[in-house]
Amino acid sequence: MKLKEECAIFGVYGADDAAQIAYLGLYALQHRGQESSGIITSDGECVHEHRALGLVSKVYDEDVLSKLTGRIAIGHNRYSTMGLSSIANVQPLLVDCKAGKIAVAHNGNLVNAVELRRGMEADGSIFRSTTDSEVILHLIARSRAATLEEMIIEALRKLQGAFSLVFLTRDRVIAARDTRGFRPLCLGRIGDAYVFASESCAFDIIGAEYVREIAPGEVCVLGSGGPEYLRFAEPEKRLRRCIFEFIYFARPDSRIFGENVDKVRRKLGRRLAIESSVDADLVIAVPDSSNTIALGFSEESKIPFELGLIRNHYVGRTFIQPRQSMRDWDVRIKFNPVRGILKGKRIVVVDDSIVRGSTMRKLVSIIRQAGAREIHLRIGSPPITHSCYYGIDTPTRGELIASSHAVDQIRDYLGVDSLHYLSIEGLLTCVEDPDGYCIACFSGKYPIMPDGCLHKDVFENRIGCGEGFGVREELDI
Ligand code: SF4
Repeated sequence: MKLKEECAIFGVYGADDAAQIAYLGLYALQHRGQESSGIITSDGECVHEHRALGLVSKVYDEDVLSKLTGRIAIGHNRYSTMGLSSIANVQPLLVDCKAGKIAVAHNGNLVNAVELRRGMEADGSIFRSTTDSEVILHLIARSRAATLEEMIIEALRKLQGAFSLVFLTRDRVIAARDTRGFRPLCLGRIGDAYVFASESCAFDIIGAEYVREIAPGEVCVLGSGGPEYLRFAEPEKRLRRCIFEFIYFARPDSRIFGENVDKVRRKLGRRLAIESSVDADLVIAVPDSSNTIALGFSEESKIPFELGLIRNHYVGRTFIQPRQSMRDWDVRIKFNPVRGILKGKRIVVVDDSIVRGSTMRKLVSIIRQAGAREIHLRIGSPPITHSCYYGIDTPTRGELIASSHAVDQIRDYLGVDSLHYLSIEGLLTCVEDPDGYCIACFSGKYPIMPDGCLHKDVFENRIGCGEGFGVREELDI
């Protein structure tokens, strides 16, 4: 795999060890973003912050956490989808305005960030970061509403696109989710304390019980009176939750969008087996993201599942320049074939998606060299033909192999004996509310179009956008 992660957000209200809880929550959500991490706490008087580039395990230590005092906290793990990976862009972002100190952590992408920011800059506003998220704080600071909740609600009404948010003020933690519900966000409880998290797997590590999702268009305020639910807008008639959360991003042990990720992912594998049956000896996964899909495929096809590829989990950045003879070293460093399992066998290789195809091509070559007699590749998603504008860092359309190549051309390029993708119809049979999902990266039909260029570095370079978008989906509503 392929697509880059997005971001994780977390919030705690009413716990003596709020920073430690946020730290553990961010640890559980590391898979959603690995470039940087930050926690901001409030002790009711002062706000304390720590933000740095790197993994959660590197960013915090005991000394750092001991200085993040207070009973409320928010946190963020980032993979940059807009704004480059620099310390100025590490979230949560914090400002001081007439309402006091406000911090925000954002998962998603605002499709009208360019327009909003250019308008504010024309009025004299100064921005400190190059992320789309900073406009949210500017909108709040400019609001003339009477209360902080109203200021936030007024700001939320001006945002378009994908946003799951947690805010921290001196004495409250507030969560909100866009009206289409692109990204997940849920509420949990530990005793008298409450927590927000992108995914429920973060609740298990801290012993919290799942309460419910934050609904699209909803604001949840955690203050001294317990959760208060407000609305900044009605939810869209057709929600557009990101179906890729089920295919790849979310952890299988999470509950999102009202369903267990593991269950949906198994259904993807089962459906894939029905749509593309094959005579073979073994099913193997490209670990770890495809394990559950491969298990579903194996259950349905009755072809035994084996661990034919071993993944090295400890691969960081490497600066070694390989010798010419070390072919495919970048994939070999991550995956190693189990020769005793693969040799002489007809293998079904299950992966969740193909983006550029270059990694898969190398992996196929490695599996062949390990002695596989036949390789049948099965993909648990439809071909990715379009970029995402809602918080996933997909390459430009031209780099997506399926945007310009038919399935048989991709099969030949990868060097496999057969290739099948899950159909869009098949994908949608695996979720309970098939009309409530975004599938734009497979269909090119976007629920909401960007207002201009959404290149990752649009605010660094002030570039125009040369690439054609897809089309806006026509909703029968
Ligand atoms: Fe998810 Fe694809 Fe829609 Fe982006 S375009 S929100 S990755 S389904």
